[in-house]
Amino acid sequence: MTIIPDYCLQHLNTLAIAAKAKFFVEVRDNDELSAALKFAREGQLPLLVLGGGSNIVLADDFPGLAIMVKHAGIELVDEDENFVYLQVGAGENWHNLVRYCLGFHYWGLENLSLIPGNVGAAPIQNIGAYGVELKDVFSELRAMEIQSRVVVNFEKDACEFAYRDSIFKNRFRDRYIITHVTLKLHKSPHNMIEYPALKQALATIPEADLTPQNISDAVCEIRSAKLPKPEDIPNAGSFFKNPIVSNEDFENLRQRYPTVVAYAAGAGHTKLAAAWLIEHAGLKGEQRGGASVHKQQALVLTNTQQGSGLDLLALAKYVQERVFEQYAVNLEMEPRVYP
Ligand code: FAD
Ligand code: NAP
Repeated sequence: MTIIPDYCLQHLNTLAIAAKAKFFVEVRDNDELSAALKFAREGQLPLLVLGGGSNIVLADDFPGLAIMVKHAGIELVDEDENFVYLQVGAGENWHNLVRYCLGFHYWGLENLSLIPGNVGAAPIQNIGAYGVELKDVFSELRAMEIQSRVVVNFEKDACEFAYRDSIFKNRFRDRYIITHVTLKLHKSPHNMIEYPALKQALATIPEADLTPQNISDAVCEIRSAKLPKPEDIPNAGSFFKNPIVSNEDFENLRQRYPTVVAYAAGAGHTKLAAAWLIEHAGLKGEQRGGASVHKQQALVLTNTQQGSGLDLLALAKYVQERVFEQYAVNLEMEPRVYP
């Protein structure tokens, strides 16, 4: 394990922001992780835990230790008549894991194809797409408590998963580093294809012929047609969460904007499509420095011209203000801002 001073993180965040960490280290197992945490504690350094860097905004240089969690391995740890249980190292790439499961015809991850980043970050915001969330396939995780360096298990209920949210973004923020995640996957057909775009893409395939592979192919095709690839256009995916409002507020909004796109979100609540709000506030293509609102998908802010984290945040603030002025709706940022 080598601790490197003054390390540029530009290639380690999908917004390609050229911020530096005071120190950087890659850890491959719990002994290395523990040693890195000891180094940080002795130097009183703040921590930046890194996976694939696809859900962070580096607003400035990071004045502490950036730890890239590289724990590897995919292991079948249990199996019964209906399910397999796979324990996966936090450093495994998420989409590679999806592909691995497709190879074994396990059902559960296909809707979550092509989400950038690593397995260890997936529980942080309970990643979700096309009607499936991590919590639907989650069994348990292992994590090292930063303070004590003791490894503990979290069962599903303890993670308090919610829409793009978990206990690790709230009460236990910055308290644990996830080292392994165990997933519970179906051995027999279990498709989740009610999400409109996916249903439409699969309409010509008879239900009996659906496989995790052809569902994944459809998801990849829809995503690739719509979302900019970070390698081509640096971005962090959806920059804002879809806001959830009361049904009453939604009805008031719909009186004024009859075409507003929204979905039921549990008792008494409605989820608004943030992309619609941004687009209909006329913000597509809006720019601040090197940052712009993507012209095809308004929920994505891009760093097209080597902008800084501050450009991104200035643009995000402007979008939030304009959306609030127009609809009285707060947009909450999804990526986490450092330092
Ligand atoms: P990072 O960006 O490295 O980290 C994100 C946060 O998690 C940070 O706060 C970090 O400290 C913390 N973290 C990372 N690893 C660990 C660990 N081992 N232990 C503790 N904390 C950790 N998200 C979705 O939910 N659905 C999507 O469909 C989706 N599509 C996307 C498409 C694009 C083009 C992009 C760029 C992003 C998309 N995202 C999506 C967001 C992002 O890919 C996910 O949130 C992903 O899980 C982030 O993984 P990461 O490894 O890159 O995390
Ligand atoms: P889309 O299909 O254009 O739909 C727009 C929004 O409407 C989505 O955000 C989705 O919410 C919601 N929606 C659509 N149909 C729904 C239904 N039947 N029930 C409930 N909500 C519905 O979305 P998109 O931008 O192309 O993204 C496709 C999927 O990938 C979405 O699930 C999205 O969350 C996910 N994605 C996430 C990120 C990220 O960074 N977080 C980036 C890219 C894509 P949900 O977001 O709640 O699904």
